[in-house]
Amino acid sequence: MNRNIVETAGNRLALSNLEKALYPAVGFTKAQVLEYYRRIAPFILPHLRDRALTLKRYPDGVEKGFFFEKRCPSHHPSWVQTADVLRDDGEQMNVCLVNDQATLLWVANLASLELHVPMARTGSPDTPDAMVFDLDPGVPADILDCARLALTIRDLLSRLGLVAFVKTSGQKGLHLYVPLNRPETTFEDTKEFSRAVAVILQKNYPDLVTAKMAKDQRPGRIFINWSQNDAKLTTVCAYSLRAREEPVVSFPLGWGELEALANRGDARKFRINPGEAVERAEKDGDLFRELLVKEQKLPHL
Ligand code: ATP
Ligand code: MN
Repeated sequence: MNRNIVETAGNRLALSNLEKALYPAVGFTKAQVLEYYRRIAPFILPHLRDRALTLKRYPDGVEKGFFFEKRCPSHHPSWVQTADVLRDDGEQMNVCLVNDQATLLWVANLASLELHVPMARTGSPDTPDAMVFDLDPGVPADILDCARLALTIRDLLSRLGLVAFVKTSGQKGLHLYVPLNRPETTFEDTKEFSRAVAVILQKNYPDLVTAKMAKDQRPGRIFINWSQNDAKLTTVCAYSLRAREEPVVSFPLGWGELEALANRGDARKFRINPGEAVERAEKDGDLFRELLVKEQKLPHL
């Protein structure tokens, strides 16, 4: 194994197998994965901060096996911040907090291509700071249908006085987020509210939308997965890479751009690669930054 020792903000970090192609189809190497996370760090770190990280590791690249890892690997460097969280079975679990660039690179060096986080921070595990609508298209429905539905959801929420933000999942669909950032919000609130929205839309657009998890409901429809609003579950973090054949980023889009893309009718245009992600983030800033600060109260329906 080849090793390189780097220093980042005074922390020593050993990087390994830098030449290995983690995305063999396009020859995208581990060095390039690390370089992506180094450059996107200022944008992704605020969204990872103080959240229990779920690693999704691809030690031999995206064409080989992967594993999810919720526990922070015990061999972590001393400067990696961790937190103890309570699992359902009452056991404590030590998780990684990606609160600085060195930790982000350490995690990327573990070939954790994808970074997944819960809707709550570890200090307030029962308080989601946002509500998510995970829009999952059932073939032949695609991301274009998701985009049109996202616009409909945005309008519906807007009539209820709520601002929303949207990102690509980097895979098949879209994630729509509603910032809340209020200490009284519970997962019961966000789950009930998002389910109500999903059920109303299913009623209004029965051919296009389903609020039901059952797979047989999905072909040709978008499943509005409201059940992701759960303390135990995660969503891929904004700016995380995805482990597809080619590296694709889960990337925030402006509503104007989403509308333009939906009208343009080319699903491939939703694919943002790492180079483009860095360039756009550096030019436009973090389109998700308000998600972390905007306070909104869920109205009673
Ligand atoms: P897509 O657009 O293709 O649906 P996605 O990221 O939304 O991509 P989903 O299958 O809809 O993928 O899952 C939503 C989220 O749930 C994921 O982003 C991930 O954080 C989490 N998740 C899904 N499957 C698992 C799993 N087996 N273990 C842990 N977390 C998972
Ligand atoms: Mn999804």
